Amino acid sequence: MSSHPSSYPGRAVVDLAAIRSNVAALREHAGDAAVMAVVKADGYGHGLLPSARAALAGGATWLGVAQVDEALALRESGVTVPVLAWLYAPGAPLERAVAAGVDLSVAARWALDDVVAAARSAGVTARVHVKVDTGLGRNGVGPDELADLLDAALRAQAEGAVAVVGLWSHLAFADAPDHPTVRGQAEVFAGAIALAERAGARLEVRHLANSAATLTDASVHYDLVRPGLAVYGLSPVPQVGGPASFGLTPAMRLEADLALVKRVPAGQGVSYAHAYTTTGETVLGLVPIGYADGVPRHASGTQDRWGGPVQVGRRRLGVAGRVCMDQVVLDLGPDATERAGDTVVLFGSGADGEPTAEDWAQAAGTISYEIITRVGARVPRVVVGDAAVDAEAGVDEDLA
Ligand SMILES: *Cc1c(COP(=O)(O)O)cnc(C)c1O
Repeated sequence: MSSHPSSYPGRAVVDLAAIRSNVAALREHAGDAAVMAVVKADGYGHGLLPSARAALAGGATWLGVAQVDEALALRESGVTVPVLAWLYAPGAPLERAVAAGVDLSVAARWALDDVVAAARSAGVTARVHVKVDTGLGRNGVGPDELADLLDAALRAQAEGAVAVVGLWSHLAFADAPDHPTVRGQAEVFAGAIALAERAGARLEVRHLANSAATLTDASVHYDLVRPGLAVYGLSPVPQVGGPASFGLTPAMRLEADLALVKRVPAGQGVSYAHAYTTTGETVLGLVPIGYADGVPRHASGTQDRWGGPVQVGRRRLGVAGRVCMDQVVLDLGPDATERAGDTVVLFGSGADGEPTAEDWAQAAGTISYEIITRVGARVPRVVVGDAAVDAEAGVDEDLA
């Protein structure tokens, strides 16, 4: 984040107090399980370090990321709590990760071998979480190969190269809580735990639950839950309930300042390909953010139906015509009183009647995860609610 004021005519306002209270709510949902706040993908677009600090202030005791570089960035910023990184390819900086005390997932034999080599050259014991594919069909070692991988991992443990601290997996249908695969995967996971324990592993943490499972299925919480989306205040199961029903508040507001307001006649084609044409004399408003800023082009409007929702004053309008790279157009109506410089809201918490990221997801035929993580790098993040966050929680004071 840059320290000089930005002239960018749009911003993502990130409320750290909301992230903090969302994590506090997730702790309640988690019961006896510890909370690993997932801060991958730049804290789901909210900023890696601010999100991490707010999550720790809310009571998370672990942080989770996909990439090794994300974990290293947390350590370089002074984060001292356990951090798990779970996705890397051959050539990743595992020696640096191990030396920095980052926990690593091991999902294949080559990964174990690379982690062992990294631990030997760093001269420290690497903490590993063995990942088993219980049915998602994505990352993880298959149940049939688990015994061999565990055997090799426990041999490396005996010589001090690694400590097998975790066994974990990920659900395919957590967002459909009654789906039979949830029970099926839980059974495979239970079998994997039994196998690991018989093989002599002394597991510190067994973990399976993402946001949806944390909120809807206490039977799969085990020792640690790994919520991501819910940390940022969105519901992973909108068909079951919105954020408020789970005690969550959306933490990001995406807004922009009108760059132009102008009167046009009836029959004016609007934006590329004239996908929208004015039906009477009206006033157009130009919103200076577009798909390069994360506004989904799939939420373009047509002649018959406005696209993605926007709050203008107290009014709810929608994108008129095509979403462009840098801008979208609104039909403000013939009686518009808005002026260039007025701020419009694409999405926010919904508390003031503004649209939410979930509304944009529906307009674009996607999920709210994609709406918040795709907000472009050039959109300034403006952090608010900082005072509510204890900067000392897990972050070295000198570096925070
Ligand atoms: C992203 C991710 C999570 C968090 O998922 P949400 O649905 O955002 O809660 C948890 N575990 C793994 C393996 C992930 O990749």
